Amino acid sequence: MKNYITEHQSPYLDLRAEVTDILFEGKSDFQDIVVADSKEYGRMLMLDGVFQTSDKDEFTYHENITHIPLFLHPSPKNVLIIGGGDGGAAREAVRHPEVERVTMVDIDGKVIELSKKYFPKISAAILENNPKLTVKVGDGIAFMKEAENFYDVIIVDCSDPVGPGEGLFTYDFYKDTYKALKDDGIFVQQTESPFMHRKLVREVFDAVGAIFPITRLYTAFIPLYPTGMHCFTMGSKKYDPLTWESNRKQTFETKYYNEGIQKSAFVLPNFVKELLYGEKHE
Ligand code: SAM
Repeated sequence: MKNYITEHQSPYLDLRAEVTDILFEGKSDFQDIVVADSKEYGRMLMLDGVFQTSDKDEFTYHENITHIPLFLHPSPKNVLIIGGGDGGAAREAVRHPEVERVTMVDIDGKVIELSKKYFPKISAAILENNPKLTVKVGDGIAFMKEAENFYDVIIVDCSDPVGPGEGLFTYDFYKDTYKALKDDGIFVQQTESPFMHRKLVREVFDAVGAIFPITRLYTAFIPLYPTGMHCFTMGSKKYDPLTWESNRKQTFETKYYNEGIQKSAFVLPNFVKELLYGEKHE
């Protein structure tokens, strides 16, 4: 008999993956967790019924959430990742020679532990005890409240705005993020699909825009996520991605990211511009 795991992407649309093995199925203190081997995407991580990452497409997400803010900043030394328990964003961040310190704060130690066991490629920087990386288990919201004028780049690699991730999509959290950044700091958060999650995308864009002098949205193709068209909201204190010129050489290989993507990711289709800058309606 065939076995499947299913994400209900909307009340009217499911994404169903045929799996050969369920390697882990259980509950942490914060969420339901499934790790399974699928035929199409290889090994997959699911949290609270939502596909988070897969061995086959993880590079699309992790390279875009990490390299775009890090290459926008001319000298990113201190990086903070909120969430990102699978370790993929941390793995990409430590590859930048300019980066001296990466702190990752995920609320769920179980996700970190399972990723080390089942996703060794994704969690490579954690597994190898990379000297630049500090991993903390704790609430990113509380952590951010305490930080001030310290980080060059903050990456919020969170789950959807339900459960423990809910407070990561609020005006108060973005205010704390602004405070935690240095005077030329950059913040990026994954903000779902501009095609399917229109209300959330507009609300986050407006909230970040009320705090940061430069607020931009960029998109990337993430096959596993709803509609495949994913977006990231960026708040920046000084550097504008729309006037970016290459400021250093890329010293490592990437499968998705390149200098063209650094620019083109911010070129938005008209329906997305209308969503962000047009009259607000639900
Ligand atoms: N890259 C994948 C994606 O976006 O789908 C995976 C993201 S990562 C697995 C999301 C992480 O955010 C989870 O491990 C979850 O535990 C963490 N998270 C959710 N709420 C959090 C909070 N308040 N503070 C810190 N981490 C949080």
